[in-house]
Amino acid sequence: MRLSYNFFAIPQPKTTIKNRMSRIRLLAETVASQVAAGEVVERPASVVKELIENSIDAGARKIDILIRRGGISLVRVVDDGCGMDRDDALLSLERHATSKIRSAADLQAVATLGFRGEALPSIASVSRFRLTTREAGAVAGTEIVVNGGKIDIVRDGGEAPGTQVEVRSLFYNLPARRKFLRSENTESRNIEHQVYLQAIGHFRIGFSLLRDDRMLFQLPSAATLGDRIRDLYGIELLERLVEVNGTPSRNIRIAGYIGQAGLSRQTRSQQLVFVNGRAIESGLLTAALREGYHTALMKGQYPVTFLFLEIDPASVDVNVHPAKREVRFRDPTAVREAIVHSLQQTLERGRAGWQEKFRAPMTATAAVPGKQASDLRLRPEVAAPEESHRELPHLGPALGDRVFAGVSTPSGAPVSDIVGQALRLPPSRVDSESDVHALQREPDKAAPQQFQIIGVLNKLYVLMENADGLVLVDQHAAHERILFEELRRRMEEHGVPTQKLLLPHTFDVPPRDADWIERNISILQKMGIGIESFGPGTFKIDSLPGFLSVSDPAQFMRKVIDDLKSAGNSTSPMRLGEEIIAKTVCRHAVKANDPLRYPEIEKLIRDLLECDLPYCCPHGRPTMIQISLAELEKKFGRKV
Ligand code: ADP
Ligand code: MG
Repeated sequence: MRLSYNFFAIPQPKTTIKNRMSRIRLLAETVASQVAAGEVVERPASVVKELIENSIDAGARKIDILIRRGGISLVRVVDDGCGMDRDDALLSLERHATSKIRSAADLQAVATLGFRGEALPSIASVSRFRLTTREAGAVAGTEIVVNGGKIDIVRDGGEAPGTQVEVRSLFYNLPARRKFLRSENTESRNIEHQVYLQAIGHFRIGFSLLRDDRMLFQLPSAATLGDRIRDLYGIELLERLVEVNGTPSRNIRIAGYIGQAGLSRQTRSQQLVFVNGRAIESGLLTAALREGYHTALMKGQYPVTFLFLEIDPASVDVNVHPAKREVRFRDPTAVREAIVHSLQQTLERGRAGWQEKFRAPMTATAAVPGKQASDLRLRPEVAAPEESHRELPHLGPALGDRVFAGVSTPSGAPVSDIVGQALRLPPSRVDSESDVHALQREPDKAAPQQFQIIGVLNKLYVLMENADGLVLVDQHAAHERILFEELRRRMEEHGVPTQKLLLPHTFDVPPRDADWIERNISILQKMGIGIESFGPGTFKIDSLPGFLSVSDPAQFMRKVIDDLKSAGNSTSPMRLGEEIIAKTVCRHAVKANDPLRYPEIEKLIRDLLECDLPYCCPHGRPTMIQISLAELEKKFGRKV
């Protein structure tokens, strides 16, 4: 058999001018609608989205959605909005027929969700479509049946005021599109997500969703966003959210709720952002959220956000995506900064409530004699004196000695001193046993909060008691956070202490990496990396941050560049510095199994509580978890 190479080749037409012109013709209306449907109606969830948006624009107070078989067999949306008279109902099925904008100028400030006048005709061209609608005062309503874009029936109909749209057998006339649909389950989940988005975006409207005769939810009109989140996701989620409030800039208002630091999801399904009431997905927004969370988010995880941006409509172009999922900002940097700023503020604001969790229960402190003398209670029967006097590695100066050995600071002071200060632990205090006791007796005026340490589990988890039950602190994660914030502070203030290498190293990098280094060289230097250009594509390093112990500096630099490049195009140099610290600090924090002496643990907890973002280590892992008495009771079968 001979292989035919031009099997798929398009036959070449004879290209005379006349011939070419006659090849262009206007598409029939139905075909044009089907083409438009290709963009607007990707899948059943898009139908649901467009229909709900129309209901919202029509002033509905209640929207009931029913889907069958992933919306492929049926989508029905019923609203109690303004309805349409017969003429309008017929017009609504024409392409580019909209009641929402009149002129190009109106596009500058679209106040409705719809404006393209494309959804209804597009949907009707690729399904068996039925619209019934009635205006509140009208004697009769209208029913229109359309099949594959052809109007088959127009007659009186429509019961309650409002509009009902039924879309059956989606893509029945476009088998190729139908093939692209996913399983019914997946399509159903997409629809659910879409309804969740709309329900969060418009909490005053009541919503119900019926899936294959199973009621998934019935949401009454809610008075506040918080109520809607609770009704939809449950009180447990709401309790882990922090309210965003504030006007970061004159032109952008940001409100809503975001997850506390440490709360994250494996998918973006709870990362909701609305711009002027419209759910928007965009790389810019995702990046801004990520940056706002920064060290408070685990790698590969997504934050939980219910964020509402209000921006002057003239500063947002909503007409850039056929399904209106994206927008273009006139000043993307301002939007990004506003988000980052308000997220950071909000996360830090959540700190007070979190610190409260460390408070010792009233009864526990009252039960121990001499509670006025100290804010700390060690249960003698648990942490016996021998325990705390064991020969254990020190946190604080000892760590400084280990990590900063032989390193000097720009001011000439030994680094161990600085780290000692950094960890706010005077060397004399932990080094002598009598001081350990003194520490336990002495009231620490700087720290008003009482907490109760029970002991340490597996040389890693500090067990504490609070009013709710048991608190576990991961001492490694806690120490990483403390060290991270300390180094960051020092980087901001006067640069990180460096250690001269015995021999300067030169190394080559590909042009793109060389570019990257050139652009970021000053921050690298501030980070304690003594790096300079040494010819095209070649660099020389003669010093490294004191807290690093690196055997192959060139290798280390290549790794840092790789890590940081993939960490995103951090625009701010401080952020880049933070990345470097976060990436390196971990190795020098207290090792998971380093046993700590009692006062060291106390110190660790106090230092943690003073951090800006104490909830999680610089990689977003939580520093503390709580096991409530209620949970324990359940586990022990005391309560069902
Ligand atoms: P758009 O929403 O972009 O205007 P659509 O094709 O979605 O375009 O709808 C066309 C028009 O039909 C709308 O402008 C509106 O006037 C009318 N319409 C659609 N759905 C409803 C509804 N549920 N209630 C009242 N009017 C509606
Ligand atoms: Mg619409």
